[in-house]
Amino acid sequence: MPVPTKTFAHTSTVDVHPDKPEEACGVFAVFSPKDDVATLTYFGLYALQHRGQESAGIATFDHGSLNVHKDMGLVSQVFDEEVLQRLPGQWAVGHTRYSTTGSSRVANAQPAVLSTRLGDMALAHNGNVVNAAELREKLLKRNHTLLTTTDTELIALLMADAVNDGKDWIEAAIDACKQCEGAFSLTIATPEGILAIRDPNGIRPLVLGYFGGDDPKNGPGQYAVASETCGLDIVNAHHIRDVQPGELIWISEAGIKSLQWAQPQRRLCIFEMVYFARPDSVYHGESLYSYRKRLGNILAQESPADVDLIMPVPDSGIPAAIGFAEASGIPYAEGLIKNRYVGRTFIQPTQLMREAGIRIKLNPLRDVLEGKRILLVDDSIVRGTTSRKIVKALRDAGATEVHMRISSPPVTHPCFYGIDTDSQSQLIAATKSVEEIEAQIGVDTLAYLSWQGMLQATQQDTETFCSACFTGDYPVEIPEMFKRSKLMLEKTPVKA
Ligand code: SF4
Repeated sequence: MPVPTKTFAHTSTVDVHPDKPEEACGVFAVFSPKDDVATLTYFGLYALQHRGQESAGIATFDHGSLNVHKDMGLVSQVFDEEVLQRLPGQWAVGHTRYSTTGSSRVANAQPAVLSTRLGDMALAHNGNVVNAAELREKLLKRNHTLLTTTDTELIALLMADAVNDGKDWIEAAIDACKQCEGAFSLTIATPEGILAIRDPNGIRPLVLGYFGGDDPKNGPGQYAVASETCGLDIVNAHHIRDVQPGELIWISEAGIKSLQWAQPQRRLCIFEMVYFARPDSVYHGESLYSYRKRLGNILAQESPADVDLIMPVPDSGIPAAIGFAEASGIPYAEGLIKNRYVGRTFIQPTQLMREAGIRIKLNPLRDVLEGKRILLVDDSIVRGTTSRKIVKALRDAGATEVHMRISSPPVTHPCFYGIDTDSQSQLIAATKSVEEIEAQIGVDTLAYLSWQGMLQATQQDTETFCSACFTGDYPVEIPEMFKRSKLMLEKTPVKA
């Protein structure tokens, strides 16, 4: 029987760092009949918390029966030891959510749970299905009542329909995925085992890990699946490989098997490498910390500056700033100290605090900054509002010059594949030249990394990546209605 959902009181919220795109979700799964799978999933989600902070959920299967708990809040707010004890099982899936499709409410929390003729299923999704409106129509015509506003429920219903039409779990998952377009990395728990599936473009990441012996005498192997390798590291699972674009992996008591359900296209989100994924994760075989340092190296060669100190915007600008300092030979220093305990949930600030502005999160170090020419490194500028406050705070603390270098090209287009970016008209680089942005955020000079520089650092082909937020080249066709919601169509034709 499902465990009743526990509800929490919440404070009103103020996003103290609103000027960054938000990651959509993190997914996790574990198959480990000898272990406490709910606790392993809790730790996996804890490591993936940066991918979504609005809600969290875990579903376990215990000898065929489903237990589930999900609610609004951080992983550490939604789960405690008592709740985890109510989630026994041999395998589990988990999810952390930040909404891109569907509003922020508990009904939309994941995993999505449905009953079928083969038993219950629980589905966790990271990404965004761009043909959701069409699928919604199709399901309504089949007399389904939709309980949420998410695309995740649509995928789950398509799969449940296929099961109820006589297909097995694997066939049903493939049937559902073939009807979906866009980005989807899925972990699905069923009474017979777990599924891990990635869309044909592999837009959002998904990795496979292993942490047990599969000697038949010891029982089947123990596996974990996560959005990022940091989710494997925390449960001590060894990263075997990425789940490939267009691949389905089935893990059950009979072992593990892989199917290529769709022709892989490989258009991985390059923004995961630049910013979203944790720097201690490995993405597409690449340490993201090393990659981001290389971005800084190349940026220093492309856009040098005569300054006294290289300084990051913490935390996201740190590896690139170190790379910039190494390549330029200019000292690296920290001039902004981050309050690491400011999360997305924050009490309404008083007027006095509002005037303190950015200092709620980042406090400048006067003795480092006074009389110095600073080069500030950040990973991206989206609207420019936070950059302007940071630059002002540095000048107020005594910096004589503030130059800015960005370790990615200008963000000119919104994302439709599971990252919450502003609409195009709110993206500063979509409407303003570099000189206009310099004036708006108040820096002496501003330079972005070139597109070629960002790719050169990946050491891969252009075709390997989705880069639509920098180029407008969307790898999966965006339905017209969806485009209109975010794009300035008359000014910027979409290529796909
Ligand atoms: S549009 Fe940008 S953020 Fe979205 S998937 Fe493509 S590269 Fe990633």
